[in-house]
Amino acid sequence: MDLVYKRNDCMNLVDFIRSRNETIGFVPTMGALHDGHLSLLNYSLQQTDYTIISIFVNRTQFNDPSDFKNYPREIDADVLKLKEVGCHGVFIPEHHEIYNGTGRKSYDLGNLDKTMEGKQRPGHFQGVAMVVDRLFDIVKPDKAYFGEKDFQQLQIIKYIVKNLNHQVDIIQCPIIREHDGLAMSSRNQLLSQKQRENAPIIYKCLQHVKEYANKGSLSEIKKVVVDEINQTTELQVEYFEIVDEETMQDTKKWEKGKNMRACIAVKAGNIRLIDNVRIS
Ligand code: AMP
Repeated sequence: MDLVYKRNDCMNLVDFIRSRNETIGFVPTMGALHDGHLSLLNYSLQQTDYTIISIFVNRTQFNDPSDFKNYPREIDADVLKLKEVGCHGVFIPEHHEIYNGTGRKSYDLGNLDKTMEGKQRPGHFQGVAMVVDRLFDIVKPDKAYFGEKDFQQLQIIKYIVKNLNHQVDIIQCPIIREHDGLAMSSRNQLLSQKQRENAPIIYKCLQHVKEYANKGSLSEIKKVVVDEINQTTELQVEYFEIVDEETMQDTKKWEKGKNMRACIAVKAGNIRLIDNVRIS
């Protein structure tokens, strides 16, 4: 497995792969790898010749300094996992390798950042856009893999890729869950035992919403979900919205023919958990 830390070394590696006429698959991550990340990697291994994963805890997308400080970092364990699954290349840059004073400072996000994560975490998606743009400039992948777990992020990345004319196919990958339904996340390991025991209620509620799709009033269903989660010890809903996948705007009534997705953020103490399901 090739391990590179410097932007120039990564660009040289990419040039070398290209000189062999191989296609490149890319999986950007913040590390503390779990089976959700590895599923993205497996799609890339199947669909491209050479898979590169990046591990970079991107300071610019954290609006909360304590969240950045506490974010799990496990580089040695990550590298071992990546070797085991047959990843080809790993790019682990320092902050200055990505943010070296050049490049765009602000991005048109097509108003997709005005709701949910964007509203709760000011500046978050500008930070995401900046790092993804810069990583794409360095890695120049044919395909890049992103999880539906961060659904709003996925839609924003599709938008900027089109807008900035990056020649990359964005591959949307399904959410991988724990056996009890909790969406896998690097942050899950920060949960207390009690919080971890209670967290699967989030996915259970999302499944109920799916059963009720196109029936009953949306506002009633939303209230039932929010009340049920808020009554659970140590869980507090930050937002729960049923959005049109195209616009990321909250919908007030069921709309036939539109792809709608129920998206939720829940605080368990200081830990934010997000999840979503397609409901129609
Ligand atoms: P992160 O390291 O949290 O920035 O995530 C890196 C990539 O892995 C993003 O595209 C995420 O959407 C994706 N991802 C994170 N958790 C999961 C999961 N449980 N299932 C599928 N993809 C995931």
